[in-house]
This record gives sequence, C-alpha cells and structure tokens, in this order.
Amino acid sequence: MPPRAPRIGFASLGCPKALVDSERILTQLRAEGYETAAQYADADLVVVNTCGFITAAVEESLETIGEALAENGKVIVTGCLGAQPEKILARHPNVLAISGPQAYESVVGAVHAHLPPVHDPFLDLLPPQGVKLTPRHYAYLKISEGCNHRCTFCIIPSMRGDLVSREIADVLREAERLAKAGVRELLVISQDTSAYGVDLRHASGEWGGRSRKASFEGLAEALGELGIWIRLHYVYPYPHVDRVIPLMAEGRVLPYLDIPFQHASTRVLRRMKRPASSANTLERIRRWRADLPDLTLRSTFIVGFPGETDDDFEELLDWLGEAQLDRVGCFPYSPVEGAAANALAGAVPEELKQERHARFMERAAQISAKRLAEKKGRKLRVLVDAVEGDFAIARSEADAPEIDGIVRIRGGAKLPVGEFADVVVTGADTYDLEAKLAPKVRG
Ligand code: SF4
Repeated sequence: MPPRAPRIGFASLGCPKALVDSERILTQLRAEGYETAAQYADADLVVVNTCGFITAAVEESLETIGEALAENGKVIVTGCLGAQPEKILARHPNVLAISGPQAYESVVGAVHAHLPPVHDPFLDLLPPQGVKLTPRHYAYLKISEGCNHRCTFCIIPSMRGDLVSREIADVLREAERLAKAGVRELLVISQDTSAYGVDLRHASGEWGGRSRKASFEGLAEALGELGIWIRLHYVYPYPHVDRVIPLMAEGRVLPYLDIPFQHASTRVLRRMKRPASSANTLERIRRWRADLPDLTLRSTFIVGFPGETDDDFEELLDWLGEAQLDRVGCFPYSPVEGAAANALAGAVPEELKQERHARFMERAAQISAKRLAEKKGRKLRVLVDAVEGDFAIARSEADAPEIDGIVRIRGGAKLPVGEFADVVVTGADTYDLEAKLAPKVRG
C-alpha cells in the first residue's frame, strides 16, 4: 500500500488577486502529491492566505489563523498580512511559518519542512489547469504584481512593491492551458492591468507561432484568440486603453471595462494621487460608447475622502449621472494603517460619509435599474454558473462573477453548468435580469 498522501487545509481570504496566489500554491503542492482537505480537522497542516488591505480584513485574517490553530494546531501563514509578521506573532506566537504575498517558494518550502511530501512519480500528476478554487468554468488570470502608483489611501505598493509583469509567453501559456482544461471565461487581474508590460519595456515573447508584445493591447489581442470570454479588470483610463475598444467591437474581448475611477472631482483625485486623474473621462466614455454601444462600465468609488467638500460630492453625483455607469461599488473612506492619506487634513465626519454613501448608492441603483430595464426583449448569450430549482443562474457579458448581477433563466434547470446558452430577457430589477431560453433557430 502506498503511504497516504499528506493533506493540506487551505483558507484563502481577500481579493481575487489573493485567490490566484492560493491557486498557484495549491497547484504546486498538488503537483508534488499533496491532497487538499475540506475541513481543518482532516488536514495534516493548514495554510492561511491572509489579506491586510483594511483593518477589518486584518482582523478577519487574525481570527481565521486562530480558528485554524484551535482546530488543527499546525498553521502556516502567507499573503498580504504576512508582510507584517509582528502583528501575527503578537496574537498567535505558535504559527509554524510566516511569509508575505507572492512568496510561493517560501510557503511550499515551509510545507515541505513541516509536512514532507510523499513522492510517487506515477500518482503525482498535475491536472492540466492547476487546482482551481473557483468553479471550473472561469478563472482569474493574474498578469502582474505590485503597482507603480502611490495613491494616498492605498498601502499595496508598500506591501507588494512596484509593478512586476509576468512574461507574456508565460501568461499566454497559462491562459491557453486553462482554456484547454474547459475554462470558458478568463478574468484578467492585476493592480493596474493597463500598465501591463511597462516594467518589461514591452519585451516580446513567442506564443502560437508568433511574436507577442508584452503590452495591454498585445495581451488583450492574443487572449482574444482563445475563443473564450476575456474580461478585463482594474484598467486605468490611459489613452492607449482606447485601442482595445475595436477588439471588443470585433467580439474578441468582452465589451466590459472595470475602471476604478474612485472619484470625479479633480481636486479629490489629486489628493488621492490617482493615475490618469487629469483625463477627461466623460468625453472618453462618450466616445467609447459611440463606438461600442454595448460596452458595460464597472467602477468603484470612495466617498468622504479627507477634504471632500459638498461641492466635490455634488460634482461626483453629477458625473455619475452623466457617465451612466452600469455597475458601481462605493465605500465610505476608512483610514488604512500606514497610508499617506491619514496625514491629510479635512476628515469628513462619519455621519456625513454614511449620508453621502447612501445618496451615491441610490443614484447608482437608479441608473442600474434604468439600464437593465432597457435590455428587456433583447437576446443575450450567457454563461451558466449554477442551477437552482427550476432556474439556471447565469451571467451575461455584462456581469463579472461575484461582483455584478446575474441572469435568472426560468425553465433553465436542464442547462449544463459551465456552458453558454442563448436567452431572451423577460424582466429586470435593480441589479439582475430575468430571462427565458431563446427559441432555437432552425437551419
Ligand atoms: S493604483 Fe493606487 S489603489 Fe491601485 S494598487 Fe496602485 S497605489 Fe493602490
């Protein structure tokens, strides 16, 4: 009897970027013959991938470590909070090892030290798509680490360092592997997707028998050849972003842009030190929509940033009304330990922040409801995520998983999960659509 494979429990906290880190670590461990355990108690050791972005995430990470220690006892910590080991050790001195973000080798090294692998060259086969924590049919594709900007509310550059892009051939090979393994949608993520390749001086790489440029457009164009949904997240509105609009119009990349605008008042944007803050974004949006009427725009905003006046906030509301963004997230500003914005004068009282947040979300909800209502009667291609009772739960090109809306398909119980379907929109509420199956075209 071969010895039992060592089992790892894994807790992954934080943003989709952290999820990709977790996938990489699991991919490596799985390749070495480790198995994963769904419960802490069934694992021989637990890895906790932490988040340290805001105070609440730090607390959640510390609690998860405590839970893993109580239920299992052998815990290795990695991820963003691992960049501040003193915080972890003050609460949990018994963890086995701590490493920071993207420290795959350290995590795997720590696992080897505390739970040596059992080698079996015949059993240790790496599934072609790696080990996904996301459903099989979509995957996050992380193209770079770190960020060259220094937004005053953000501590990511101090935790993750400057932008380091993955080589283009490496990214494209991974994307191709995922597509071949059945992934139908790739979500391209990084801190600053439109800056991809800048640090590599756009060095080319070979993929699919051709030379490919390590640039935002080069990457989007090559990914568009895979024949699956390509969704671009965290794109800043630099001028060269305009060049992906034709790829979207040709159906090679989803007509979807996730642009974290954060605010509309130039004064606030300057205090935030946001990239591309001086661009006339309304004009750009108008042009994009003229060329591509089906473009979905998603964004996030911060209200109540230090120094934000009533006028700044009204400007933001007016801007939102003009921009008619499809999908919007908004956070009342909360100081992050170590962020430069903490030194800015003009703190906005908590009550006012909450009031602005509520007003902003109300406006955003009206826009969303109106734009979704306009889709009634339209035929859409959707990707089925799940089946619940008589309904299939799917997403259209306009819906990223987890953060956007859904399309509920009445009578869709028989639709295969992870496959595309064609539907006709029958109804809409504030954020979601309802649909029925489109009649099959004979031919
Ligand atoms: S662009 Fe700004 S908010 Fe985004 S990671 Fe960089 S510094 Fe942080």
